Amino acid sequence: MQKVTCDICKEYDSLHYRVTIPQKSNWLFVCKRCWLDFSKTEGYKYGGTRNVNKRKKVIIRSNQVNT
Ligand SMILES: [Zn+2]
Repeated sequence: MQKVTCDICKEYDSLHYRVTIPQKSNWLFVCKRCWLDFSKTEGYKYGGTRNVNKRKKVIIRSNQVNT
């Protein structure tokens, strides 16, 4: 079972949330715990999830990104 690290707390997990804020140019992948905290950040955007076990492609809808 493949696991990847959270970009904030560096903990290993199989499911991450794809998020960003205006101060960052790149997307971050964060665990659920960090996501709950990160979602309070002003200008925060959610861009789907990354699940390494299901190999599911992250589909980004333009209306979710360009709010
Ligand atoms: Zn985390």
